[in-house]
Amino acid sequence: MSEPDTKPNRSDEEWREQLTEEEYEILRERGTEARFSGEHVNRDDDGVYRCKGCGEILFDSETKYDSGCGWPSFYAAENDAVETREDTRHGMTRTEVVCANCEGHLGHVFSDGPEPTGKRFCINSVALKFEDE
Ligand code: FE
Repeated sequence: MSEPDTKPNRSDEEWREQLTEEEYEILRERGTEARFSGEHVNRDDDGVYRCKGCGEILFDSETKYDSGCGWPSFYAAENDAVETREDTRHGMTRTEVVCANCEGHLGHVFSDGPEPTGKRFCINSVALKFEDE
């Protein structure tokens, strides 16, 4: 998956065919992987993280840091690559992060991150495909 699939408008059935069950649950049903279970939590390689749904570049390893929260954490996303929405599920008010291109659910963003942004993008490994530089 090197070229992003621009504004994919797949049916639910097509998403189910393209994605694994786990990917579908997180990207399309706004699920969350178990803490510390993801393949990118402790990754420290140089490269980029693409959306598992559409291939768009979402995060750069430059902005990844160890937050200790159990999910890959970044203090910034690529310009215009993600959008945020209010998420009031589970009795909390959180800010959901979705891929701006395919609207796949990625995770949430919090305000306890490091400089220079003060943000913590807490993202499911399952939603991301790492690409070595
Ligand atoms: Fe996407």
